[in-house]
Amino acid sequence: MSFQDDARAQDAADPLIGLRQAFRMPEGRIYLNGNSLGPLTVVASHRMTEVVETEWAVGLTAGWNAHDWMGAPFRIGRKIARLIGADPHEVLCADSTSVNIFKLASAALKVQSDRSVVLSEPGDFPSDLYVLDGVVRTLGGGRRIKLRPAEEIEAALTEEVALLVLGHVHYKTGGLRDMARLTAKAHSVGTLVLWDLSHSAGVLDVDLNGARADLAVGCGYKYLNGGPGAPAFLYVAERHQELLRSPLQGWMGHALPFAFDDAYTPAPGVGRFACGTPSILAMAALEAGVDVAGSAGGAAMQRKARGLGDLFMRVVEAGPAARELELISPRDPEQRGGHVAYRHPDSYAIVRALISRGITGDFREPDVMRFGFSPLFLSHVEVAVAAAVLGDVVSTRAYDDPTFRQRLAVT
Ligand SMILES: *Cc1c(COP(=O)(O)O)cnc(C)c1O
Repeated sequence: MSFQDDARAQDAADPLIGLRQAFRMPEGRIYLNGNSLGPLTVVASHRMTEVVETEWAVGLTAGWNAHDWMGAPFRIGRKIARLIGADPHEVLCADSTSVNIFKLASAALKVQSDRSVVLSEPGDFPSDLYVLDGVVRTLGGGRRIKLRPAEEIEAALTEEVALLVLGHVHYKTGGLRDMARLTAKAHSVGTLVLWDLSHSAGVLDVDLNGARADLAVGCGYKYLNGGPGAPAFLYVAERHQELLRSPLQGWMGHALPFAFDDAYTPAPGVGRFACGTPSILAMAALEAGVDVAGSAGGAAMQRKARGLGDLFMRVVEAGPAARELELISPRDPEQRGGHVAYRHPDSYAIVRALISRGITGDFREPDVMRFGFSPLFLSHVEVAVAAAVLGDVVSTRAYDDPTFRQRLAVT
């Protein structure tokens, strides 16, 4: 069987294939970048009009009660909880991933005040590292950051480590960290762990409570398809909720925001990690995206995403560019998230050439191309075609054109 026949057979047997209808995918484009910005859902498109024209234009302030705007961060949090193995009252939708890291890392360091080290991985998502740097500068007291490569993290977990912060799936390589194992090891020396699920929520079968996780954050605009700059989410295990305090004590995290009291009393539960008023338009778009992921479920999404990644690699490796592309993602699907990355000295131009042929992946410094395999809107045939075109673009040097080399502002 050719790869194309094989892919067609896999599509015929794919339980998620129908979910593509839930998205407004542009005609003629194979979108392998849902790990960076997920596509628009049909429901979000309708909801934008409805929320603006009915809930806002007509309802005005009544919307806070009539349309439960106030409940959106909790309602969407409950829906995300199902996708990440959390209990419904452990997840809140709020702010950006970066801000949520600030809130949770600061809160964790405060309760671990006899320890000075925040442990993380070099080369992890830059914003995470920048925010942690800001946290230790703000809290002071001799706190510092220690960076160790993934394979040395376990050995670096000692009793001076207050908090371990890791991406569950590495944003560049797609490497999956062993959440249960690292969390258990951290707990054995009294360290708390903050997981960044930005590249695993909405694509892998995440199980926070199964791993006895402490804290987590994640992104709304990637695999959850919430729209550009969508609100993010945060998770605080129930056992920690009453002990931790947000450093950003806004009125939405107050026990009684409409009592307009001068003194701050944290809300019970995860709600204390809210800060200001939720963005209702953005929440409406995100909720539509989360609902599509919820209808698929974590296990089915993980199985399909990994199958798509395997198919892509097999077609690339059987093709004419196999020797020019260096795989930097784990080949073992059990060790991988939803995307696959290769190195090539001309990755930037290759990605631009692919875009001109209707295939969207992305480039990451210094020489990496990434291809994301969202299980919700991609078919196996599309993935096999994309891999074949990649092989063609690389082997024929079709990317070797000045227009493809010119850098755009956002890569
Ligand atoms: C995408 C991503 C972010 C995004 O942070 P924002 O605050 O939403 O810009 C943070 N961390 C990781 C690991 C990401 O992949």
